[in-house]
Amino acid sequence: MDERTQTWRCIRVGKLVSNVWLLPDTPDGPVLVDAGFHSQWGTILQNMRKHGVTVRELRGVLLTHRHVDHAANAARLSAVHGIPVYAHGADAAFLRGDATPRPLPEPKGIVGMFARIENHFPARIPGVVPVQHGDVIAGLEALAMPGHTEGSVFWWHRASGTLFSGDTLLNAQPPLVYRVGLNLPYVAFCDDYDESLRSLERFAQWEGEVQRVCPGHGPERVGPVRERLTKLLKAHRLGVRRTRQRKVGE
Ligand SMILES: [Zn+2]
Repeated sequence: MDERTQTWRCIRVGKLVSNVWLLPDTPDGPVLVDAGFHSQWGTILQNMRKHGVTVRELRGVLLTHRHVDHAANAARLSAVHGIPVYAHGADAAFLRGDATPRPLPEPKGIVGMFARIENHFPARIPGVVPVQHGDVIAGLEALAMPGHTEGSVFWWHRASGTLFSGDTLLNAQPPLVYRVGLNLPYVAFCDDYDESLRSLERFAQWEGEVQRVCPGHGPERVGPVRERLTKLLKAHRLGVRRTRQRKVGE
């Protein structure tokens, strides 16, 4: 681990609904990866202050995808504070309101409740800055991972081997996140589940040496992921995992 890696901090400043990661030391200044749901606003600000960062000092929000539990506060940071918000072009069209996504199914229970919120109160960020695969913002590279949403991305910090994986690679058992463990995306919240798995299949062949995963839900996971991810995908191919998730979602 070189000196730069050791001084590169990544702090989980929001976690109760969705994870919000504060990166105070990027070349562009402090940024957030994802910004959480409305109800997390106060906690996020409080935790940022604990680490010496105020809203005024933020230089950007890097969204892993457009879902409101990750993007609601990004809309506020953009509209009220003029902070640039970056999202993949395919999700940016929805965030601007230029396109309407296919609604998520709304089954009974907590899954349906989250889906209804997303369907009826999506995040809107008129000034969102579109990025594409390979773009680098604040030292993090956008890797297109379509499927969970059309414009889902991984944000990859090569120097530290840190991957911000959003909802495409979780470290919890969805839809609730009390059971920790690397997991595939949750089928009920995916725009195109099969495409998200194809994205992960491609990623599993990738050469990048992941040392740490900071997901959209669940705590950070230290260590390589390829072996576990390959097993998860294999289990899915055998049909085991998808059946189990469907049963949970009923
Ligand atoms: Zn999501």
